Amino acid sequence: MNDIQISTGNESTGATQNGSAQTALRGLPSIERMLAHPDLQRVREALPLSIVTDAVRKAVEEARASILAGGEDLPSSESIAAAASAAAWQAIMPSLRPVINATGVIIHTNLGRAPLSTAAVDAIREAAGYSNLEYDLVAGGRGSRYTHAIRILRQVVGCEDALVVNNNAAALVLVLSALCSGREAILSRSQSVEIGGGFRIPEIMKTSGAHLVEVGTTNRTYAHDYANAVTEKSALVMRVHSSNFRIVGFTASATVQEMAEVAHSHGLLFVDDIGSGALLDTSRYGIQAEPRPQESLAAGADLVMFSGDKLLGGPQCGIIVGKSDIVARLKKHPLTRALRVDKFTLAALEATLLHYLKNEAEREVPVWRMLSAQPDEMQRKVQQWASTLSEAGIQAEVVPGQSTIGGGSLPGETLPTYLLSINQGEAEAGRSADKLRAQSTPVIARVDRGSLLLDPRTVLPAQEQALLDALKSALQN
Ligand SMILES: *Cc1c(COP(=O)(O)O)cnc(C)c1O
Repeated sequence: MNDIQISTGNESTGATQNGSAQTALRGLPSIERMLAHPDLQRVREALPLSIVTDAVRKAVEEARASILAGGEDLPSSESIAAAASAAAWQAIMPSLRPVINATGVIIHTNLGRAPLSTAAVDAIREAAGYSNLEYDLVAGGRGSRYTHAIRILRQVVGCEDALVVNNNAAALVLVLSALCSGREAILSRSQSVEIGGGFRIPEIMKTSGAHLVEVGTTNRTYAHDYANAVTEKSALVMRVHSSNFRIVGFTASATVQEMAEVAHSHGLLFVDDIGSGALLDTSRYGIQAEPRPQESLAAGADLVMFSGDKLLGGPQCGIIVGKSDIVARLKKHPLTRALRVDKFTLAALEATLLHYLKNEAEREVPVWRMLSAQPDEMQRKVQQWASTLSEAGIQAEVVPGQSTIGGGSLPGETLPTYLLSINQGEAEAGRSADKLRAQSTPVIARVDRGSLLLDPRTVLPAQEQALLDALKSALQN
């Protein structure tokens, strides 16, 4: 180990400090002295010296910075040791960690979208060893990973064949590259959209070598608009679900059936990107109906594409279902290899799809359990939380509120819920939210008009105790 002296920083800055800050700075312990501190012996035994040294250097520098910034007193060596110890343990944590989603946004893109069912998590664990990923157990020889999930998809959505790729964006790129490169895809002007994260339909088209032909107007597109745009270069009629926005008022669009008819009567294919892959009827929960793959296929779509981790409630992937001769063309395309899914995804996807096959999705798939949770159930839960916290001296209220679907699905739709509300005033509530995110299992809450708000709808049952512990730790004194 070399270089264990900390930088003394800019001397002229130091010279402008008052005398007590100067004294405090001079009293800061050296890195070497800190490393010998009894409170750091446990972490020194457990972790490599380089990690502990870095953590100590960071803690001493922070102490120095806070003295310079606020003219604060010299922190005790115990408090520097505690900061260093925390930083050292932090350094051996992965950066990707579980969090508690108390935002009430069910498919929270920033928090990993759909949480998986218990069966899907178990399936991932089991797939971690050897599996028949590409092995034919009957023939005793080489098989294909693309055989998995197909049987269940056939039963659940009624497709002839299916192909699972890395995500729905990849599915779109593959479909356009394999079926429309150098040809034209006809799309309503209202569907030439940006999905999020810079993912724009016209750019995806360009990347895939397809030529976008926009038809109709922003608010109105009719079946004959598609028909009039057909040329000898046309390959596809396409629909892209306007997942994350809504056009209201004087609007019109062709039905899926009409689009399929126009396509087929001109010898073209009709492909439907429905986005979120709702397999159940969302209108049963008092919200708008999301397009479902089984409906699209029944209406004549040749291919339907959707995400695995939005309303389907499974792992991140892109699912392409449809006619077997067309899926066969996709499988032969070189991009398929580049976009292929791993064994964990396939394992979790099959387990998730089985919940639908067994008619138990509403109970077993977290996304649907959250969607179908009733307000009185939420109210009871928050009341319990409030009384537990009250025993710990933390005052919280139970207030009505709204949960949202998120994940670019069902914009503007909300589900009535009850929230745990802790009113602290603007600045303090913000600080509390920061502290909640700094807990060992970080809690993501909302802050609104000086109140910290937590929605039980999106808190996984197994995380409730951790949530209450985090609240007590963050909010007590
Ligand atoms: C979300 C979405 C996509 C992108 O799907 P990913 O799985 O996130 O790649 C594509 N099309 C539509 C209509 C979507 O809603």
